[in-house]
Amino acid sequence: MIAFAAFSALSIFQAAPARAEKHPAKSVEKTAAIAAPKTPIQIKADLTDAPRKLFHAEVDLPVSEGPVTLTTPKWIPGTHMPAGPADDITGVVFTANGETLPWRRDDVELYEFHLTIPKGVTTLHAHLDCIVTARISQKLAALEWEKLLLYPAGIPVRDIPIQPSLVVPAGWGIGTALTPEGSGSYPVPAAGTTTKFAVTNVEQLEDSPVITGQYFHEFPLAPEITPKHYIDVVSDAPEDSNLRPSVLAEVSNLVREASVEYASHHYHVYHFLLTLSDVAGGEGLEHGQSSDNGVGEKGFADDNHQLAESDLLSHEFTHSWNGKYRRPATLYQPDFATPQQGQLLWVYEGMTQYLGNVLAARSGLKNQTQYREMLAISAAQLDYRPGREWRPTEDTAIAASILRGGNPAWSNWKRSQDYYDEGELLWLDADTLIRKLTGNKKSLDDFLKVFLGLNGDTGPDIVPYDREELIKDLNSVVPYDWAKFLHDRIDLINPRADVAGIEQGGYRLVYRDKPSKSERTLVSSAGPRRSGLDCWYSLGIRVSSEGQISDVRWNGPADKSRLAPGYKILAVNGRIFSNDALRDAIKGAKGNTEPIHMIVQADTFVSTFDVDYHDGERYPTLERITGSPAYLDDITSPRTTPEKAPADQNKQAEED
Ligand SMILES: [Zn+2]
Repeated sequence: MIAFAAFSALSIFQAAPARAEKHPAKSVEKTAAIAAPKTPIQIKADLTDAPRKLFHAEVDLPVSEGPVTLTTPKWIPGTHMPAGPADDITGVVFTANGETLPWRRDDVELYEFHLTIPKGVTTLHAHLDCIVTARISQKLAALEWEKLLLYPAGIPVRDIPIQPSLVVPAGWGIGTALTPEGSGSYPVPAAGTTTKFAVTNVEQLEDSPVITGQYFHEFPLAPEITPKHYIDVVSDAPEDSNLRPSVLAEVSNLVREASVEYASHHYHVYHFLLTLSDVAGGEGLEHGQSSDNGVGEKGFADDNHQLAESDLLSHEFTHSWNGKYRRPATLYQPDFATPQQGQLLWVYEGMTQYLGNVLAARSGLKNQTQYREMLAISAAQLDYRPGREWRPTEDTAIAASILRGGNPAWSNWKRSQDYYDEGELLWLDADTLIRKLTGNKKSLDDFLKVFLGLNGDTGPDIVPYDREELIKDLNSVVPYDWAKFLHDRIDLINPRADVAGIEQGGYRLVYRDKPSKSERTLVSSAGPRRSGLDCWYSLGIRVSSEGQISDVRWNGPADKSRLAPGYKILAVNGRIFSNDALRDAIKGAKGNTEPIHMIVQADTFVSTFDVDYHDGERYPTLERITGSPAYLDDITSPRTTPEKAPADQNKQAEED
């Protein structure tokens, strides 16, 4: 998953949200006595009511006489939390031989339904609806199958055969990695027809989402590469799903770069599924053979909007190797009921965060300057996150499922899903360290070929690992005390961020009095609500363009003057609040002793505050360390010959 809204673009002003977690592997042993069915479950998803925010399903399950427990998924892979939509599943009716059967929900496992199957019944029919309020609009919908799935509890989900079929609104196209069966008119079915897919299993079906929409395009990518890759796009506005040639060239580059970097594929086919909608919301959820990506309507319409989304596709694609195929043992459970445990998310997500950004740069989805400027934003945020004084990075991974989302108030003191961006710095540190130790003869690339390329091309599979294997594989590239390296950075309290990788890469994190070009682009494309002034590294507040304070940096100047999240700045130095008034006040206070005067609304009261801050504006960027090897530039250079769309020939030339 992508670190939601997460990411640097928005988190300049908002605290970054959070992700998932787990628990001990008790697992399927308890019910292994239940035989897996041999006949596939038939599930027919009806999305014709999608514009009304309803999905329907008809499910036929093979059964035999006696008590049966059916379940819907609870722990959804990739979300790292118990995010199954049991609360949105409604209209559940079970019938057999034309009779309605009574059911009772389990008193503890609320995702489970208990029924008793009468004598002579071999097929149980279930109808259910799901109320869907996200990833859906008048013109498109994303179907993650857990919204409609129903299957026997207590059996490993990969042992349960199931055959899906699908009806979509007339004229809507279908994007999915599922294999269509028969001679239908896929991917744009004739009105009213059902598209049937090949038999799969419940684990794979949950891992194989569908996007569908009126404005649909499917583009093949990097046609010389096997297996085949596609990007399927649906949008609210007709013009948006027809992606720009430059974007298609860059995503094809991404396919080539990943194929070289990871030296393997763990899918039979790969579909990037992309929705472009201001209504359907943001998403980035990995799957083995596809990824579910949601951005705003104009997210890829021009280079400026694209910058904020530049690592989305490369991040989710990388997950096919790192997260789906190679998965921390504690994050893989053979059912969707056993809690997952997140202690290795700094690999699953953190290394993906690193590689997603690196591959985005190698593919041209952003240029090398943008890569460095965005890395600076992310590193600075971590360096100015006082919660690291009490909480190690590993704890942000262990506690992932309770750190996701939440109120930004004091989140810098709490920390968030920091294992994403901490992981990025950690793996950059490891990459540049390997280069340093080997005179740039080896790099993390060599580790990835061993770790992610295990067994070469495999098709969809899951191979669990633990920290010991990670250390062993790192040692196979270059002998070093990797156990201590990881322990020091992950398990221990580190009051400052790990910027060693940036410095070994030939750059240093510095602060200037003007935001970098990338920061300005991110701010201007983030929209008016979020385009407040970045004064996190100066006053120590996140403030909107309306003066609303969402977070105050613990122990920073604003904190010392007793400002708090939720307060609203009404006036600065005698002027009504605006970005300009605030900037002028910060500039004006530089080098003198007069505090910045504010009139502030706190709930229903108004008070004055004086902020004693005199160091001027401060925005993060990277500065070259002259005379040192620029490993960071080596790391972000393409490994393959980049394809460039005609209109974008000059893109690289403009970058400085
Ligand atoms: Zn992710």
